[in-house]
Amino acid sequence: MYFTFAGLTGLGVPHATTTRHCPGVASFAAPIDPRAPRPPFGPETAPALRPAGLDLSRVGYARQVHGAEAAPAPPGGGFAGSVDIVTTTEPAVPLAIFTADCLAIVLLDLETPVLGAAHVGWRGTVRGAARAAVRALERSGARAGRLRAAIAPSVGPCCYEVDEPVMREFARAYPGRWDAWTRPAPRADRVMLDLWAANEALLVEAGVDPARVENPRLCTACHPELWFSYRRGDRGRLVTLAALPAVGRR
Ligand SMILES: [Zn+2]
Repeated sequence: MYFTFAGLTGLGVPHATTTRHCPGVASFAAPIDPRAPRPPFGPETAPALRPAGLDLSRVGYARQVHGAEAAPAPPGGGFAGSVDIVTTTEPAVPLAIFTADCLAIVLLDLETPVLGAAHVGWRGTVRGAARAAVRALERSGARAGRLRAAIAPSVGPCCYEVDEPVMREFARAYPGRWDAWTRPAPRADRVMLDLWAANEALLVEAGVDPARVENPRLCTACHPELWFSYRRGDRGRLVTLAALPAVGRR
């Protein structure tokens, strides 16, 4: 029903990435109206995620726009705005990122404590969302060297073929280095893009210790039995949630 990260579990961080078998999963794809925002969860999802330690009545979420802007969740949870990075310093407020191939990146410094969750696809990568997430947490008192990062199931280099417009944007944003994140594709005018390698490198460049980046390298397009994949034509989404441990539980 949901996937968990061994590293985050070991730290006592409540979290989950839903599979396509999570109750209420159809509601996750509902668009968020910024004038009347409400979290896209059906009533059947909250009990399903309670065993993960997540209280969905306090969830912080955003209208994701493929950018690199960050905003804090309101106190007690709620709508953070039209941004792709949501942060909180409040224990037990889960942050939610919705994806269907894009990366959801969870970042936290338990000593501060502060938590962030980022939605990072190819556009977010080009716009520097991983670095922006690290900087946003630093503004809330985190130290980059203390951060833990986890990359949720997302499209892998095995399945992520991109065309010329994407290649051009990457080459402009990361001249001379994005070759390391690609390999040839079956079609001559395409490449296979490794968003995992790119974002791991960009996190490390922003000061995160590579040994503290957890990436199970689970490809959504390779596992249709578990996850939705936009690339494969699915219109469903998965949600990655994480919360700072409740006070007294750390
Ligand atoms: Zn794959």
